[in-house]
Amino acid sequence: QRKPMVAGNWKMNGSLELVSELAEVITKIDTSDVDILVFPPFPLVKSALDAGLKAGAQTVSENNAGAFTGEVDAQLIHALGANYTLVGHSERRAIYGESNETVAAKFAKAQENNLTPILCVGESEQEREQELTEQVVWQQIDAIISKLGVDALANSVIAYEPVWAIGTGKTASPEQAQAVHKFIRSKLAELNSELAAKIQLLYGGSVNENNSEQLFAQPDIDGGLIGGASLKANSFATICNSAK
Ligand code: 13P
Repeated sequence: QRKPMVAGNWKMNGSLELVSELAEVITKIDTSDVDILVFPPFPLVKSALDAGLKAGAQTVSENNAGAFTGEVDAQLIHALGANYTLVGHSERRAIYGESNETVAAKFAKAQENNLTPILCVGESEQEREQELTEQVVWQQIDAIISKLGVDALANSVIAYEPVWAIGTGKTASPEQAQAVHKFIRSKLAELNSELAAKIQLLYGGSVNENNSEQLFAQPDIDGGLIGGASLKANSFATICNSAK
């Protein structure tokens, strides 16, 4: 009963031309059976919305508007017409030092401003080798639950993105990804079974047009968060269609 979702995270890539190219192809896809979103750099969010794409932010500030040079507030993103933001992408955590607490604050700020957060979680290669995957992923989710209560997750999406699979071409196997998705859903079910059954869980990390179908066919994988392959209109369209 969960609607699949495919989201393209452009990271610090893209251009006005890419917005047009992608809109041309992606707006032709019937979205009655798949949610399609793009997360371009901030200056392109409005252009993407105007071009008929559903677009959101890659991150938002944990603060309200004010003296925070270089930051972007959730209220402004929502005012543009966006309904979603990523929070806690592994690059934000690793490069910009976002802690679980910061991510939880951003998650809260997004929801206060009517943006649905897509919470990104995932373990490093070393953590996987040390069999800490479940512990790490659950700590990242539990940071939200401790601050806001489990019901806050009802209006959110969770993206499982193992850090070792991001931008490496080394995707998790469908079985590896399904195992973590199943773990997340069953842990959530212990707290709120209705929420666990409804929440969209996305997989991210080296998804492309050749592996998406098998990944998305797994029972607890409801779609994907796509990096590199979301920058090519035809590849992204194929991935979107494979989630149906
Ligand atoms: P790639 O698809 O390029 O591996 O990136 C995944 C990702 O980080 C999406 O948020």
